[in-house]
Amino acid sequence: MQSYEIAVLKGDGIGPEIVEQAMAVLKKAGEKFGFTIHFQEALLGGAAIDATGVPLPQETIDICKAADSTLLGAVGGPKWDSQPSHNRPEKGLLGIRAALGLFANLRPALIFPELRAASPLKEDIIGDNLDILIVRELTGGIYFGERGRGEENGVPYAYDTEKYSVPEIERIVRVAFEMAQKRHHRLCSVDKANVLESSRLWRETVERLKADYPDVEVSHLYVDNCAMQLVRNPKQFDVIVTSNMFGDILSDEASMISGSIGMLASASLSSGKAGLYEPIHGSAPDIAGTGKANPLATILSAAMMLRYSLDQPAAADAIEAAVSKALSQARTADIQAPGLPVLPCKEMGALVASLV
Ligand code: NAD
Repeated sequence: MQSYEIAVLKGDGIGPEIVEQAMAVLKKAGEKFGFTIHFQEALLGGAAIDATGVPLPQETIDICKAADSTLLGAVGGPKWDSQPSHNRPEKGLLGIRAALGLFANLRPALIFPELRAASPLKEDIIGDNLDILIVRELTGGIYFGERGRGEENGVPYAYDTEKYSVPEIERIVRVAFEMAQKRHHRLCSVDKANVLESSRLWRETVERLKADYPDVEVSHLYVDNCAMQLVRNPKQFDVIVTSNMFGDILSDEASMISGSIGMLASASLSSGKAGLYEPIHGSAPDIAGTGKANPLATILSAAMMLRYSLDQPAAADAIEAAVSKALSQARTADIQAPGLPVLPCKEMGALVASLV
């Protein structure tokens, strides 16, 4: 029987609650589709700071590197807000992404038919089948660039730097072209080429690579325009590719189109098979421990893991179908609908597992 080693980083806040549900659903999928999963837990974020003093212990990196893939909850919370910037929980997150060489973040923004009414956009704007894939560069750009603070003539200042090399742009753009080829053959590259030199290099690179993908229609948008278009006419998009910071912001905007941040999965891929799978939301300290957390984004992240890293597409399909069915029977508090019972996190996880 096929067996997989999965590193599990539950993290902070609602992280443990939601990850446990995804683990249960993965286990059920394994029973049904004939594979076993061995989970190995490791520390990340605030939980790691409390136990070891640092947000990303070397042991965590080693466990994730040795695993077939990694499942992550979320990190951070007010308890660690006073940590110095180099030792904050989020540093652990950026660090593990870099240590695993995860340069491509795939964030689907799609609307389950059952949740159409939850979108803040009018139904005619959403259409029947909204399905956008945002491909975000993850290990370069301003989040990793040179930064600092200083003082000039008694006036304090701070700076951050956006820097991209051609190989960094090429590898993320190629991932996006390949995704577009598997989907609806449209790729929109988002930049700020009217202002930023790094964006001009980005745009030139996309233009040069497009000759290798003649079946993909390429367009370019400035990030401010893209932010508008996502709420004015989101149906125009198939795959969007963009830099680390722009992708961070646009994918959160796209998540609101889908109705709830608690529904959105993500995959981060390296050039090999392994990846890191996590919901796009944070650790939601405001609802941690109350049972109000929606585990579906994490469960859908586990489905992406089965599809992209473990070559179990049938099991991935089954989990996604189970989520869809579960949504027609019950809801979590963040997506509640008239006539449907509201389930706590654990019960929603159990319902999905029972439907796989
Ligand atoms: P957040 O995503 O944690 O929460 C934003 C809002 O959405 C909150 O009202 C929260 O209750 C709600 N929410 C989020 N996930 C939910 C879920 N699964 N079910 C139901 N409701 C959900 O963002 P924030 O409040 O800005 O940040 C809280 C902490 O999380 C901070 O410490 C932040 O740094 C961290 N954070 C971590 C990640 C990550 O680990 N990937 C991402 C973003 C923020």
